[in-house]
Amino acid sequence: MRTITIKPQALTHNLNQVKKRAPTAKILAMVKANAYGHGVKAVLPALQQADGIGVATLIEALEARDLGWNKMIGLIEGVFNQAEWQQAIDNDLSCVIHHYPQLEWALDNVPAIANQARQVWLKYNTGMNRLGFNEQTILDAAQRLHDAGYRMILTTHFANADDVDHPLNTIQKQRFADMLARLRDTVSQDVQGSLCNSAGLVNFPDSHYDWVRPGIMLYGSSPIKNTSANELNLQPAMDFSAQIMALQTIKVGDAIGYGSHWIAQQETRTALVSIGYGDGYPRILDKNAYVSVIDESSKQSYPCPVRGRVAMDMIVIDISSTPTTLALNSKVILWGSVPHVDEVANHAGTIGYELLCRLSTRPVRTQTSSLE
Ligand SMILES: *Cc1c(COP(=O)(O)O)cnc(C)c1O
Repeated sequence: MRTITIKPQALTHNLNQVKKRAPTAKILAMVKANAYGHGVKAVLPALQQADGIGVATLIEALEARDLGWNKMIGLIEGVFNQAEWQQAIDNDLSCVIHHYPQLEWALDNVPAIANQARQVWLKYNTGMNRLGFNEQTILDAAQRLHDAGYRMILTTHFANADDVDHPLNTIQKQRFADMLARLRDTVSQDVQGSLCNSAGLVNFPDSHYDWVRPGIMLYGSSPIKNTSANELNLQPAMDFSAQIMALQTIKVGDAIGYGSHWIAQQETRTALVSIGYGDGYPRILDKNAYVSVIDESSKQSYPCPVRGRVAMDMIVIDISSTPTTLALNSKVILWGSVPHVDEVANHAGTIGYELLCRLSTRPVRTQTSSLE
């Protein structure tokens, strides 16, 4: 069976790591893209101690409300039209407002005081150059929102927080600090601030402000360049596994899989594993990519390199290092503790975020009980 196992214990542990690093800030736990592929329904129970959750789309927000989340939901791209603004109000969502059309929808239709939609995230472009008002327009936007009765969280997003020495970090921090001070001076003392994603909250403890917005670190991946999740005391919240479906011995000169591009230099014991890109395992891997095979009789784990092309439904691995008694249906870990998803991502020329988000619906999803 192809299985994605979610570990609520690890999620809670990682959330506590966020709390340790940012003890005074509120936490907006990012659960966009189906909780980075982990499944919103599977992760919400473990994130109850967060102050709010962040999603990218209205559909994601409504799903979380349906699951019973009644604290803040931050909608990080805001709404796309007037009708969606009404839906945001009806469902108590706290929207980002990043440009004038959204501002106009908000001014045309101001929610009741008790509604969480009365609190908006005002987006400031400090150097990422994607979304946000600029230095010239943001004071006007903030003043009009304030006059209409909105409470505001000034927000921006780092472009290079994973790289602590990147010069843009200092610039973004300074622009943010300056603008927050100006808004508090000229518009309202109550304007709050939110700057940091996972990498920012680890690298810039002086910039936590009122809300931090961790995503990837909650799931146990490292947000920092050249620093492992383990070094940051983060635990992977997902175990992605499959099973050995056949055993083979390949003769010298024999080739494996599509394109026949891996050729045995010596007689090699191989195993077929029932996993492929149809499940979300990456097709593009370098020659050092490996999986862990668990020998049931000894409970030992063996690293086994992937050989030949990854296909839609299966891969071939070299099991030379395992005991010759290795059984059919032995468990194979694609990622989890070893290898970590960040390591697999390195071998695939991408980041853990992408591998997690692009898992398909085919693997069976399950979770460990909270006592494990
Ligand atoms: C996705 C996202 C985050 C979380 O980023 P991580 O790198 O996963 O911690 C924070 N803020 C915004 C606006 C985002 O879009």
